[in-house]
Amino acid sequence: MIFLYKSEAVRGNHWKAVFEEREPDLPFRIWPDVGDPALVKYMAVWLPPDDIATGYPNLEVLFSVGAGVDQLNLDLVPPNVKVVRMLDPSVPQIMAEFVTTAVLSLHCDVLTHMDQQQRGLWNPLLPEMAGSRRVGVLGLGQLGSLACKKLAYAGFKVAGWSRSRHEIEGIETFSGEGEFDAFLGRTDILVCLLPLTAETQGILNGELFAKLPRGAMLVNVGRGGHLDQDALLAALDSGQISGAVLDVTDPEPLPPDHPMWTHPRILLTPHIASSAQPGTSVEVILRNLDLLRAGKEPIGLIDRQRGY
Ligand code: NDP
Repeated sequence: MIFLYKSEAVRGNHWKAVFEEREPDLPFRIWPDVGDPALVKYMAVWLPPDDIATGYPNLEVLFSVGAGVDQLNLDLVPPNVKVVRMLDPSVPQIMAEFVTTAVLSLHCDVLTHMDQQQRGLWNPLLPEMAGSRRVGVLGLGQLGSLACKKLAYAGFKVAGWSRSRHEIEGIETFSGEGEFDAFLGRTDILVCLLPLTAETQGILNGELFAKLPRGAMLVNVGRGGHLDQDALLAALDSGQISGAVLDVTDPEPLPPDHPMWTHPRILLTPHIASSAQPGTSVEVILRNLDLLRAGKEPIGLIDRQRGY
């Protein structure tokens, strides 16, 4: 039986060293050194091998090294294979720190000050308290719920929206299609922390922007596929949206001549809002192997129907 790893090398080498000590009977191989594919029982990947559907007849569990699974084409993964995302406890912490930074940057109008600095302008703008701003978080999962709490702690009026009803102390919560417009109507800074699924693809579009208060701002830390980038550029031109922090784009990276690179009202970061850490993520994998061997469900098991 083999544990096959196919992703970034630094993490792979760290995991391999830990496996050699803690799982001496489970050979840990790093792609492309697969060995006998028929012996691969577990696989951890960002992108799976092209022949995932047919090349690994005894594969039982496919671990995503990321918190999302949208990069895997689930239709190609045999239906009997469990798909498990990475629920590393450091990921929500780092994400909440990034989101708070992004929202505070928009709130403090860092984009205007950076633009003024470029142009040698000393033009003070009156600062406001965070409590004057209503932040709305799309997605109240592992990441969205902690981001809400940190934003509330920073002083913002925070609400969240999810598919099912959630209760989070100090946070106004909305759920489902029926409460979507009310959520958008009270949101000055919108944060996207949804998984990318067939239902959420392109959700950040012109229709949505029109339902936000005029001059609202956007933080997209979900996936590039959530955002209609042309609609954002049009909404920035019209003033309906007044600024955005985008950690994810489609494609990544954007083509060199894409207008979002140089737009004065967009701050781009290269998909770094959060990431699983080699040390904590290997512990999650080892814990999941224990659960699987005990016949229990692994932490982070994906509902293949829902897509997250
Ligand atoms: P979870 O699966 O824990 O939470 C997803 C949330 O989204 C849930 O609250 C869920 O609702 C809600 N949701 C899903 N589909 C819908 C829908 N159609 N309508 C309304 N609500 C919906 O995910 P995480 O919080 O762990 O992660 C969220 C995403 O963040 C990841 O999928 C990934 O894309 C992104 N990410 C980005 C990173 C970066 O560096 N930029 C790093 C890590 C993750 P319910 O609770 O009712 O199920």
